[in-house]
Amino acid sequence: MVLDGEVINKLTIVLVLLLILKLQKGNPATMRFHLLTKARKRTVFSYLLSRAFSHRSERPSFGISFDIDGVVLLGNSPVGGSPGALRKLYGVDGRLKIPYVFLTNGGGFPEAKRALELSQLLGIDISPSQVLQGHSPFKQLVKRFENDLIVAVGKGEPAAVMTEYGFKYVLSIDEYASCFENIDPLAPYKKWTTKLAVTQNSKFNESVPRNDVLSKRVQAAFVVSDPVDWSRDIQVLCDILKTGGLPGRNVGPQPHIYFANDDLEYQTKFPSERLGMGAFRIALESIFNRTHPHCLEYTCFGKPHTSVFKNAEIVLQKLVASIYDDFYDKNEDNISSFKTLYMIGDNPAVDIRGARQTGHPWFSILTRTGVFKGKENHDKFSADLVVDTVEEAVDYILAKESAL
Ligand SMILES: [Mg+2]
Repeated sequence: MVLDGEVINKLTIVLVLLLILKLQKGNPATMRFHLLTKARKRTVFSYLLSRAFSHRSERPSFGISFDIDGVVLLGNSPVGGSPGALRKLYGVDGRLKIPYVFLTNGGGFPEAKRALELSQLLGIDISPSQVLQGHSPFKQLVKRFENDLIVAVGKGEPAAVMTEYGFKYVLSIDEYASCFENIDPLAPYKKWTTKLAVTQNSKFNESVPRNDVLSKRVQAAFVVSDPVDWSRDIQVLCDILKTGGLPGRNVGPQPHIYFANDDLEYQTKFPSERLGMGAFRIALESIFNRTHPHCLEYTCFGKPHTSVFKNAEIVLQKLVASIYDDFYDKNEDNISSFKTLYMIGDNPAVDIRGARQTGHPWFSILTRTGVFKGKENHDKFSADLVVDTVEEAVDYILAKESAL
C-alpha cells in the first residue's frame, strides 16, 4: 500500500497525540500540557484532531470567475455545456469543492434574486455571494448618497437593487418620469405607455412623496442595467444632468452619473452582437455634449477595471474560508492567497483585457460561444488560452490543477 503525504501527515499527528497523553508525566516537553485543565486538554486535543482531519490540505490553490452572457448563458438558455461544467466543481456529496464566482457586467436584479434565477437555469445551488454584477460596486456609494434623491435606470428592478444596497431615497426612471407631465413628447406614440403608467402608479415608491420629486434635486443617476426606452431615458437624463437635478428648471451643476459597465456590445441568442450600456453611454454623452456648454462627467464600473478583478479575488478568498472552514482558519490572520485565478469570458475587450491588465494571479480563457468567434486568438487582447466552450475551459483547468 502506498501512503500519500496527506495520510502520513494525519497519522503523524494522531501518533504524536497518543504519545503526549502516554508520556506526559515527568517529560519536560509535555509538562505544560500536563498542567492544563481537563477541559483545556480536550480543546487542544479536538483542535489537533480537527486539524488532522480538516479539509485544509485539500484546499484548492486556484479559483474560477465565469462571465455569464455568451459563456454560461445565451439569453436564458445554457450554452457550451455550462450545467455539466459547473457540476464538476462540486463533490459527490453536493458540496462546493472548487471556489468560483460569476463575474458579470450585466445586472438589473438584486444579487439574491439573480442567484436564484441562475440556480434554476443551471440546475445547481448558487449562493448570492457568488454573484458579482456590474452594479455591485454601487454599494460603496451608499454613505455618500444614502439620504439623497437618486434615480435608477435600466431593465429589471433597478430601484429595488439600489434600495437593497441601502439607498433610502430611490426612484426608478419610470417612476421619476411619471411625475413630470409632458416630459416625454413621444409617450403618446408608445403603444405600451398606458400599461406602463398603470404599473408605475401601483408600484410608485411610497417613501418618496411625489411633491418632493418636483422640488428636490436629484443628486445622482445610476444606470444599473441596460436602459429599455432609450429616447425617454436620454431625454430625462439630459434634463436631470443639465438642470442640476430638477427638470424644467434653471441650469445647475451637473449631478453625478454612474454606469454599471461600459460594454459596447454583448451577445444574446441573436446571431450578431447587441448594443450594450457602453453604446447608451456614447449616445447620452454625444447628445449632452452637443446641447450643453460643458462635457458630460461620468464614472463607469464593471470589467475591464482592475478593481473588479481585485474584488473578485477577495470574494473568492472568503468563499474558500467558508467552504474549508475549521478551527485553524478562524484563528489565522492571513487568508491564503491563490496561485491562479481563471477568468473565463467571451469578450476580449472586457473579460480578457481586464484579467490581463490585473496581472498575477489571473489567467484568461476566451470562449467562442459569445462575442468572440475567431479561429485563432484575438489580435489586440489575446487570451492565455482560447477554447470553444466553457466546458472545455473547466476540463482544462481541472486537468492542469490535478496534475500540479
Ligand atoms: Mg459576456
